[in-house]
Amino acid sequence: MDCIFCKIIAGEIPTEILYQDKEIIAFRDIKPLAPVHLLIVPRKHIPSLDQMEESDAALVGRMVVIANKLAKDEGVDQKGYRLAINCGAEGGQLVPHLHMHLLGGRKLSDRLS
Ligand code: AMP
Repeated sequence: MDCIFCKIIAGEIPTEILYQDKEIIAFRDIKPLAPVHLLIVPRKHIPSLDQMEESDAALVGRMVVIANKLAKDEGVDQKGYRLAINCGAEGGQLVPHLHMHLLGGRKLSDRLS
């Protein structure tokens, strides 16, 4: 499959994996927008948030749980951080494989634009 995150998950693109279990992996964004910028990614190829099924609800919930744990590991939990999922072209999604951004380590914009 021609999906960059599927290639990372398959080990075809060497990446430092910060967290992994049978459903989810996490690694650093290649173009960080903040001192801490991680991506939390399900192994299952869900092309975008709007294509998740109701049966994926627990998986997406676990992505949040893992993001919170990683925020602690990265030392941004006390000062605060942001979780974001971009969906579709106007939502700013570039990689068509569901992923959650964890951003922290600096004061983030009050705006979500
Ligand atoms: P989005 O715009 O929500 O689809 O975000 C995709 C993110 O994936 C961007 O922030 C990219 O910098 C990041 N990205 C693309 N390729 C890689 C890669 N090989 N390793 C890590 N992050 C990547």
